[in-house]
Amino acid sequence: MTESYKVLKIICPTCGKVKNINIPEAVFSQKKFGTIKIQIPINAVCPEHQFIVFVDTKGIVRGYEKIDILMSTISPETGMQLAGRVNLRNLIQIFGIYGIFSLIHAKIFNYPAYIIKDDDFQYSEALLNSIGDNILPETYRGSKTINIIEDPDINKIKVKDKNALILDTAQHIFQTPWTVKLKFEEQIIERALEIIDEEEQLKLLQQDITQLIKEAHYTVSILESVDQIYEDDLVVKVSKALSIKKISNYRLNLIKEFISRNISKRVVTKIKNRVGEFLSVI
Ligand SMILES: [Zn+2]
Repeated sequence: MTESYKVLKIICPTCGKVKNINIPEAVFSQKKFGTIKIQIPINAVCPEHQFIVFVDTKGIVRGYEKIDILMSTISPETGMQLAGRVNLRNLIQIFGIYGIFSLIHAKIFNYPAYIIKDDDFQYSEALLNSIGDNILPETYRGSKTINIIEDPDINKIKVKDKNALILDTAQHIFQTPWTVKLKFEEQIIERALEIIDEEEQLKLLQQDITQLIKEAHYTVSILESVDQIYEDDLVVKVSKALSIKKISNYRLNLIKEFISRNISKRVVTKIKNRVGEFLSVI
């Protein structure tokens, strides 16, 4: 199979540096996905910045999203790519940093993930699922949510699930079932990468994720005792009870997403928004 490429003119969204890059035509031939996210790592377009470019199936650039995480912490200071060896840095090299944020998001919020693998990809489904389990608290482990698709021809992919993350091992992301920015994942990865010890990195991720889940559980306990509650009252209650700084809007949305994906959709509808109520009156 000869591979043909489409040339895309890419502009760094931070500093304006311009460079043409080649993307395999096959990436665009899968119409059902709509917009594709392509990760542009450091040095692909710009020596200083990495980002995501949103491209439609005609190959037209529709937008950019910056990735702020410091790359100095990720630079591969060792060339450990031993078969079967798996750690955060190696996974980032394969999936790209945004691919890792997406896989973590899928794991926490219980979205199935489909990975379209290339021939060089060494890791098994079982291994990836067990790494995914390792960053969750024990009660949320064991569900096999990561699937590897062997077929290299993406036109043959049969994933009907609109709720699935679909990405490949060449830093293309075909479908993300959420609209939130992956800020939480960026923060916890940045913190974990400051640590050298590979096992400690996963433990730290698990701690940060467990804290979010703890907040979600406490939120559920409040919701179960009321008919409805305003967002701002809820945030104050949860923050006070757990002695944490006031939960931001962004974090509250994560908590809601966690509850509706993992616990109950119904209970989330008890949370009311004063602004929304005001707008519905006028
Ligand atoms: Zn730049």
